[in-house]
Amino acid sequence: MEKGKRIETAKTNSALYSLVEALRDKSLKITDERLSILDVLVKQTKPITIKELHQITGKQGCDLATIYRLFNLLEKHKLIQRTDFGDGIARFELLTADRAHHHHIICIYCSTVVKVDECFIESIQEEIANRSGFKSITHKLEFFGICPRCQKKE
Ligand SMILES: [Zn+2]
Ligand SMILES: [Zn+2]
Repeated sequence: MEKGKRIETAKTNSALYSLVEALRDKSLKITDERLSILDVLVKQTKPITIKELHQITGKQGCDLATIYRLFNLLEKHKLIQRTDFGDGIARFELLTADRAHHHHIICIYCSTVVKVDECFIESIQEEIANRSGFKSITHKLEFFGICPRCQKKE
């Protein structure tokens, strides 16, 4: 697809458009490859691995290096959040206005992922900052348990 047209299409998809705007704000280049990656990212309802993303966007000509480079940039600019569900595989999720910082609870049996909107850590974080003198503190926290469906099978 011709470039101008792609960006035009992005305007009709508000989630993708605001993400593109966020990249522009940070003076990051918007290429066709990046646009197809971002398009897949905004459609995800749970964190995605680089491998899964590559399986989808590879067909559109995005190579792994392009995905890694873009993810590094997005992470640096706090536009995506990296999570690890304890299996050592990094998963990524967008952190745009409508998807602010949050946590997950993961079923230890079926790996179902549910979003936890509340974050109780921010106030503790402030306290830690005050006591330690550190600044720009972040945290990673995931919850694990047995989902209602798996409880019935127990
Ligand atoms: Zn389960
Ligand atoms: Zn939190």
